[in-house]
Amino acid sequence: KVVCVTGASGYIASWMVNLLLHRGYTVKATVRDLNDPKKTKHLLALDGAKERLHLFQADLLKDGSFDDVVNGCDGVFHTASPFFIHTDNPQEDLIDPAVKGTLNVLSSCSKVKSIKRVVLTSSVAAVLYNGSPLTPEVVVDESWFSDQGFCKETKLWYPLSKTLAEEAAWKYMKEKAIDMVTINPAMVIGPLLQPTLNTSARAIFNLINASTYSNITVGCVHVKDVANAHILAFETPSASGRYCMAESVVHFSELVEILHKLYPSFKLPDKCADDDPIVKYQISNEKVRNLMGVDYIPLEDGIKETIESLKEKKYI
Ligand code: NDP
Repeated sequence: KVVCVTGASGYIASWMVNLLLHRGYTVKATVRDLNDPKKTKHLLALDGAKERLHLFQADLLKDGSFDDVVNGCDGVFHTASPFFIHTDNPQEDLIDPAVKGTLNVLSSCSKVKSIKRVVLTSSVAAVLYNGSPLTPEVVVDESWFSDQGFCKETKLWYPLSKTLAEEAAWKYMKEKAIDMVTINPAMVIGPLLQPTLNTSARAIFNLINASTYSNITVGCVHVKDVANAHILAFETPSASGRYCMAESVVHFSELVEILHKLYPSFKLPDKCADDDPIVKYQISNEKVRNLMGVDYIPLEDGIKETIESLKEKKYI
């Protein structure tokens, strides 16, 4: 089988390419810059890459850029989307590439009859932020959708970009009657294949030597589980709709505690950045458990593997 992975150089996508090659797929993978070894070398070194990995250059904002790469594919994994939090120009930096880029990829897919399903990497960021109060009893599930008005009011630009992109994707795919499944992971942790530091690994890295930790509660899920779920979502005919993924939901103070237990010599923050009340909630894994049929990799293992990987890459 032949599949396409967009944004293949990225953290999650690199693991998807790795797993797809391992399972015998031929992978057509897009990167933004084919001449940048930081974006391609780790992919070309994967087992099976020599025989079955084909790299393409494609630009999210250039119409028709994905036509050649999706041609002849059985499935498409669209993961490319900007992921960072701080920007002075959210429209240009986050929203346009997320929304127009997604529609651009889907438009290329709509021209190819052989594509059975598109798996879109969305996010818990497109699920959680609808303004509903979060309490320890609340279980967030796939029926939740972040609200663009709420995201705008609270300047949650990255969640806004993911929400608008997922909404636009569902609308387009229903109109075109093309099958799509979305994977909505919480914060992804675990080892890095790529040499660069992505935003979620940076969130863990930034705790080391910091004086305070953020007053944030996040879901966490291992990158290998996220990659696996994408592939199972393609391979399982009955898979449908959205799949939230979070092994656990933890406050940053708990991440610090785990780091302290695993690495007692690290200098870690001992106070919260503000005195606001701590928000806790749960994220449902009911649906994804049926798809995956295996338990998630535990949080502590994911944190340990993140740190060991950062050490190996000389960030620590
Ligand atoms: P990375 O930053 O490692 O990967 C993002 C990928 O998107 C890169 O390949 C990047 O290309 C590409 N990309 C970003 N902006 C553009 C653009 N304007 N034009 C073309 N390509 C672009 O992040 P992750 O692997 O973490 O994220 C991958 C996906 O997973 C994203 O859709 C993200 O929203 C989603 N996600 C991530 C979570 C996490 O915690 N990591 C949680 C939930 C969802 P380049 O390398 O050239 O910059």
